Amino acid sequence: MDFNCIEGLLALPEFRVIHQVMNPKQLELHLERRDTCIVCPRCQRCCSRVQDSRPRCIRDLPMLERPVVLWLHLRRFECAECHHRPWEKSETVGAHVKWTARLYTHVRQEYLPYPFKPRPLGRGTLCWGSKGA
Ligand SMILES: [Zn+2]
Repeated sequence: MDFNCIEGLLALPEFRVIHQVMNPKQLELHLERRDTCIVCPRCQRCCSRVQDSRPRCIRDLPMLERPVVLWLHLRRFECAECHHRPWEKSETVGAHVKWTARLYTHVRQEYLPYPFKPRPLGRGTLCWGSKGA
């Protein structure tokens, strides 16, 4: 299937869409990195043999009035030279995040319209947004 249109809307050039599932509650897009090989962190050779893959679920901005769920299929390669099996990493989506940066920004603008100003609080009071204060 041709996903050029949806890839244009998605604007995540690192990824290509490999599958989509539209249901009444949400739009699920399955993504894979465009690169077909990675550089082995041990011997610096190019690894192109895919050993394994695991999906990561990331929420993104709504599209066509439906919440969007991105399934990132990150692959594990095997180096033909040293047999190391490195996982690929995304440059666009951080390692432990559950939301895209643009969804996070959107929600902040939508629900926190006033800029947060830290002010001195009483001892033992949690101050949102100022870690370790
Ligand atoms: Zn290697």
